[in-house]
Amino acid sequence: MLIVTGTIGVDTIHAPTGSAEGVMGGSAAYFAAAASHLAPTRLVGLVGEDWPQEHRDVLQSFDGIDFDGVEVRAGGATFKWGGRYFDDMNQRETLFTELGVLQDTPPTVPEGFRDSRYVFLANSHPAVQANLLAQFPDRAIAVCDTMDLWINIAQDDLIALLKQVDGVVLNDQEAMQLVETRNVVDAGRKILELGPTFAVIKKGEHGAVLVHRDGVAVVPAFPADHASVVDPTGAGDSFGGGMMAHLARLDRTDFEAIQESLAWGTIMASFTIGSFGLTGLQEADETRIQERMDRYRSMARIG
Ligand code: AMP
Repeated sequence: MLIVTGTIGVDTIHAPTGSAEGVMGGSAAYFAAAASHLAPTRLVGLVGEDWPQEHRDVLQSFDGIDFDGVEVRAGGATFKWGGRYFDDMNQRETLFTELGVLQDTPPTVPEGFRDSRYVFLANSHPAVQANLLAQFPDRAIAVCDTMDLWINIAQDDLIALLKQVDGVVLNDQEAMQLVETRNVVDAGRKILELGPTFAVIKKGEHGAVLVHRDGVAVVPAFPADHASVVDPTGAGDSFGGGMMAHLARLDRTDFEAIQESLAWGTIMASFTIGSFGLTGLQEADETRIQERMDRYRSMARIG
């Protein structure tokens, strides 16, 4: 069974395509919404009493998400994040981060979730990620995500976490920041020296590279025209969701399976970027996902 831990938040986004205030967001929310289309997904996350009912309704509209691990902390405030995209939508800056309940004790993993085998630690404080990881003794694979904030303010905790996970998913800028290497393959190899068996380095519209102890693999992004890129927020988490859900449904963790799973991550991310918040993922269904995968396969044919 697949589980994700991470943030559930309220986002404010400014992009060249428009702005959206107070939309459903958070690393675990995007992950779970994307993953749940492919495999049942357990969600663990903490919100405050101010968490809007509409956001709960949005998350609950995804049939494959098991909500037992979503905890409302009395008196707490929900995590809030604001970001602004530049004209090149591969580039963004954080406008504000209000941690709220994320500064409290992490959420409790329900007893019934502890036997999870496919574990994704979506973006959150690396010490919190490590605390949650310890609660899954039966795991077949644990993969974490991170971001610039944690590389800046909690690097020691992140290095300690990397010793314990099998894989890490991060974007090219974060990888370069972490290991101070501009070349993506070299950066991946340096990350493996820190502990993981593999690193997936995402390059936005330029696809992703897998650097694994057993080899290197590459996937192109799903080509999106100007009109199809409305808001890239959550693309990374959705990529992680598609990837891990595919591994969970194959029940495999080998190099070939991970390589194959990157294509599913790419497809799920392509739904996310089409709208603000989780709307793009709400509009995805089995038929649309399969259609897009078929188109992607034929576009990527290498003879
Ligand atoms: P992504 O675009 O994949 O990097 O993910 C964006 C999502 O991550 C947004 O919905 C935010 O609410 C959430 N987020 C932003 N900053 C952080 C952070 N420091 N820790 C955890 N989640 C975050």
